[in-house]
Amino acid sequence: MTDRVTIFDTTLRDGEQSPGASMNTAEKLRLAIQLEKLGIDVIEAGFPAASEGDFEAVARIAGKLQKTEVAALARTTRADIDRAWAAVQHAAKPRIHTFIATSDIHMQYKLNMTRDQVVESAVEAVRYAKTLTDNVEFSAEDGSRSDPDFLCRVFEAAIEAGATTVNLPDTVGYAIPNEFAEQVRYLLARTPNIGRAVLSVHCHNDLGLATANTVAAIQAGARQAEVTINGIGERAGNTSLEEVVMTLHTRQNQIPVTTNIRTEQIHPTSRLVSMITGIMVQPNKAVVGANAFAHEAGIHQDGMLKNPMTYEIMRPETVGLSRNRMVLGKHSGRHALRSHLKEMGYDLSDEELNLVFGRFKDLADKKKHIVDEDLEVIVTEGILRTAEVFHLEYIHVTAGNTVYPMASVKLEINGRSVQGANYGNGPIDAAYNTIAQLTGTRSELLRFSISALTGGTDAQGEVTVRLRENGLVALGRGADPDIITASVKAYINGLNRLEYLKDHPVMATA
Ligand SMILES: [Zn+2]
Repeated sequence: MTDRVTIFDTTLRDGEQSPGASMNTAEKLRLAIQLEKLGIDVIEAGFPAASEGDFEAVARIAGKLQKTEVAALARTTRADIDRAWAAVQHAAKPRIHTFIATSDIHMQYKLNMTRDQVVESAVEAVRYAKTLTDNVEFSAEDGSRSDPDFLCRVFEAAIEAGATTVNLPDTVGYAIPNEFAEQVRYLLARTPNIGRAVLSVHCHNDLGLATANTVAAIQAGARQAEVTINGIGERAGNTSLEEVVMTLHTRQNQIPVTTNIRTEQIHPTSRLVSMITGIMVQPNKAVVGANAFAHEAGIHQDGMLKNPMTYEIMRPETVGLSRNRMVLGKHSGRHALRSHLKEMGYDLSDEELNLVFGRFKDLADKKKHIVDEDLEVIVTEGILRTAEVFHLEYIHVTAGNTVYPMASVKLEINGRSVQGANYGNGPIDAAYNTIAQLTGTRSELLRFSISALTGGTDAQGEVTVRLRENGLVALGRGADPDIITASVKAYINGLNRLEYLKDHPVMATA
């Protein structure tokens, strides 16, 4: 008999705490729809008490998803729980997730509370949340560094008060696999009413052990894993979904559990997350890295040709990577485009479809095969980002080895058109100088990187920038067959994210 592990995705909440990653409401909604398609059981959509923007995003997602549970995070105060409930109450399957720290160091220095007070606060919060919904999760922040017997006491009390899931977080990424598995076994053995709740784990990757700890915990009996796509998250990130899911999938002989994940949606989801957040996946990243299935050594290639199983433990197709994915071309019509977008998860209005179709035709003139990534770019840039402050209208540059590089740029700023021109050391520098001047921004360019979105010489160039202004850091991303235009789009996207961050401070939590 095999057990099922609940996959709880917190890309939209903990993942958004990655330095520089912030997503607007339309982007979050798009990602939530893709997460549902991936087969996620529970999506943690945000922390509604943190900001208006968070509240709105959670409420929009709650109103949209049908199959996936939508969770909202709350501290143990009534105000937080009310706010969380107000955001998720219209979800088909709502969940309230409340948390308080249980380690001595957090209770003493952060909360300034005694153990008894923490238990009381947890119980009160769960009991109150339970009056609003049946589906209540309780987390013991910094659980891995908490006294094991005290943790049993807190969980027992939380379950008694109505918690249906209790979560053990390794908030600071300190645990090691054997120790963490032992903690899970201890909690299962010593919490008398644990059979009435699902035991969950939530790991961070500070020592590179998040996946190992999560898998060890599942082997020890945990039945919910809290993860993010590409492992994004604060500091070194969270446990990455694709690593845990593919470990369980590939090693069923050792770990007889199943998940609801449709593995062939893993790669498209990973691409979407890096596209929306601007956080690129390292090439050697397990499962979703560009080189994850690249076999370089001749002896390996020879073996692979004879039988792929000689060196391949997973098939690229299983995680949604297929070699020839031409989806649409120059002659594809509006109807084919609409139905393909629908398959990808986009339900566009006629007006939106017209816009996407126009851009699709423009791109098809420059590029022979249009793949999903190209369409995602058109939709993210054309529709999801429309509420932004700065918009590119046109860019013209002169460059070469005999001219002084100059750019002239026209932008729309809050609906008003402005234009200007400036010089620079190169065409990109000239364009950036002009844009900084037009927008009156003084951001510092910390990083600039460029890569190809897909294979082939006609592939779109994909540019990521990291900008800093007044202590705030934001990533920006842009793609275009022309790399200068891609660079300009990335810069403007970064500036827009900085604007967004000024109004939406991200509140850090467990
Ligand atoms: Zn966390």
